[in-house]
Amino acid sequence: MSLTKEQIKTEQDRLDANFMKHAYQLAQQAESHNEIPVGAVVVADGKVIGEGFNQSIMLNDPSAHAEVIAVRQAGKYLQNYRLLDCTLYVTLEPCPMCAGLLVHGRIKRLVYATNDRKTGAAGSLLDLVNHQGLNHQVEVNKGVMVAECSALLSAFFKRRRAERKTEKKQREI
Ligand SMILES: [Zn+2]
Repeated sequence: MSLTKEQIKTEQDRLDANFMKHAYQLAQQAESHNEIPVGAVVVADGKVIGEGFNQSIMLNDPSAHAEVIAVRQAGKYLQNYRLLDCTLYVTLEPCPMCAGLLVHGRIKRLVYATNDRKTGAAGSLLDLVNHQGLNHQVEVNKGVMVAECSALLSAFFKRRRAERKTEKKQREI
C-alpha cells in the first residue's frame, strides 16, 4: 500500500522535528563554549552525515558557522563537493555566507527554526536560496522547533547583555 500525500507530509514533519532536535543539541554545545547558540546537521538518506555548531570566536574564524562546519564534514563523508539530495537543518536562518554555500553545494532542502530579521538570507533580509538569477534553488521549510531554538538564542543574548553591563559597572568602580 502506498502512502497518501497527507501521510508522506506527516512522516516528513516527524523526520524534520527529529533532526532539528539534533541541531538544537549542537546549538546548546555552542552555548556552553560561549558562542552564539547555532547548530546544524546535514542529512542524506535519513542519516546524519555532517554536524557542526558555531565556533567563530574560539577558532578566530569568521567562517566557522555551524552550517559551514556541517557542510564540510558532509562533503568529506560523501567524497563529493556537491551535496545533491541532502537536507541541511539549522536552528537559525542562514546568513548570506552560509546561504551562498548551500547554493554552491547544491543542497536540496533547507529546514530552519528561527528567522533572522537582521542578516537572514533565506527570505528575511534577502533571499539567496531562492534567487531566480542563481543556478540552483533550495526548497525551504521554516519554523520547525521555533519556540525552543529562539528561546535559546534570546536567553543567550540576554545573559551576554547582563554580563557586559556588570563588566562595565566594575570598570567604573
Ligand atoms: Zn552563516
